[in-house]
Amino acid sequence: MNSAPLQPPLRLGVYPGSFDPVTHGHIDIITRSLRAAVDHVIVAVATVSEKKHLLSQKLRLSLLEDVIAATPELQTRVTVLPLEGLLMDFVRTHRAQVLIRGLRAVSDFDYEFQMAGMNRRLDETIETIFLMASERHHFVASSLVREVAALGGDIHSFVHPLVAQALQKQARN
Ligand code: ADP
Repeated sequence: MNSAPLQPPLRLGVYPGSFDPVTHGHIDIITRSLRAAVDHVIVAVATVSEKKHLLSQKLRLSLLEDVIAATPELQTRVTVLPLEGLLMDFVRTHRAQVLIRGLRAVSDFDYEFQMAGMNRRLDETIETIFLMASERHHFVASSLVREVAALGGDIHSFVHPLVAQALQKQARN
């Protein structure tokens, strides 16, 4: 009998969102999904959404790239790409098997449940997995970070220093 360990196929996950801006909460979800569920994560940065963005897609992408590059554990296992069009088309094009989302409070649940259901209808071979926010990031939301930054508050406990710098610059302009 062959006792060599099995070589499982590589598992690729897509983590979609606006990342306006990327927070410690997002990075925590990426890190934990790599530990628990997938071998590589594509972070898909949405262009269009019903939300009004503070940062341009270009800046949101480059901040994510910079934070990933500055995080040794993630450098070779994460790719950051713009998301245009339908998410499930993007997932299929990149041959990913898993969609990754984070859940903070109960208030996230309704929207996430609806979106996961819709995406399942569009392609039932793609599974959405949810990771619960870590206790220390439970209240970290991009929208709150933007508000605090705009009012001149200190956002260093929510975001990477590179992001704090970019937001402070934006607030001054
Ligand atoms: P969206 O614009 O779709 O709400 P976001 O960019 O805000 O997306 O977030 C992307 C994903 O990350 C969502 O699943 C969201 O619930 C999750 N998320 C955001 N902040 C946190 C956090 N602090 N902890 C865990 N998950 C989070």
